[in-house]
Amino acid sequence: MSAIKWMAAILICGALAVHAPRAEAQTSRPDDEITKLTEHVYLFRHQFHQSAFIVTNQGVIITDPISREAAEWLKPELKKLTDHPVRYVVYSHDHADHITGGQTFADTATFISHWAARKAIANGSRSDTPLPDLTFTDKMFIDLGGQHVELIYTGKNHSDNSLVVLVPQDRLLFAVDFIPVETVAYRTMRSDYPDDWIESLKQVEQLDFDVLVPGHGKIGKKEHARQFRRYLEDLRAAVQSALTARMGLEEAKQRIRLPQYEAWQRYDDWFPENVEGMYRYLSERQKAAP
Ligand SMILES: [Zn+2]
Repeated sequence: MSAIKWMAAILICGALAVHAPRAEAQTSRPDDEITKLTEHVYLFRHQFHQSAFIVTNQGVIITDPISREAAEWLKPELKKLTDHPVRYVVYSHDHADHITGGQTFADTATFISHWAARKAIANGSRSDTPLPDLTFTDKMFIDLGGQHVELIYTGKNHSDNSLVVLVPQDRLLFAVDFIPVETVAYRTMRSDYPDDWIESLKQVEQLDFDVLVPGHGKIGKKEHARQFRRYLEDLRAAVQSALTARMGLEEAKQRIRLPQYEAWQRYDDWFPENVEGMYRYLSERQKAAP
């Protein structure tokens, strides 16, 4: 690990030292865990997925319920933190591995998503996932118990319906599956929109926050959005050079390397698949060009 990486790791650990479990405990960490991040915002982790929730004196705003099992664990835990019910459930995007289980909160909550997520959820006919009651296209505000929360659409990225949750008072942003922290993209990137993704990250860089909470993995800072945008740009440039040189896919997967990112998580196993995802995207684009 480079000196800069170590420094970043120390800074992140330092910021959360009060709440972070001890290193030795992480080997046997429980499936479900709540960690207080800022004055009003908590992290809820279920196995390898996580979401953020906001406690106010008029109710709770949760984000992804993750799964029925996760939601059924979370509901009584919330009752230990507050007497107020869950008033809103905000879906980060339509993917079932993050938003299943909302039915557990349907007795008190209003469900919200980006408008494009509603159609995808409806097509999935998922019994544990209530359809959103409210949708929006660009921006939506929730004001509850003195807390102002902003739901913002920053364009296509990992999906075509991902929203970010900005909590301005706590200077915190929750964003799922499109800003991994010092981690390469998931496998073949699971996205039809790598170019839009880069533009989406530029919009995130314009937002005012310090703490970045992703849907998987370690907590980051605003700087990580810029780092990941640069990663996608570097990956795109490297793959485009290979295509220009008429390199085949398998050769590109073997030969393309971005050593400046080799300390990132999953670089060894997922980076060649990231190359493949970008290669297929740029090849299709090239074919479609007049
Ligand atoms: Zn996803």
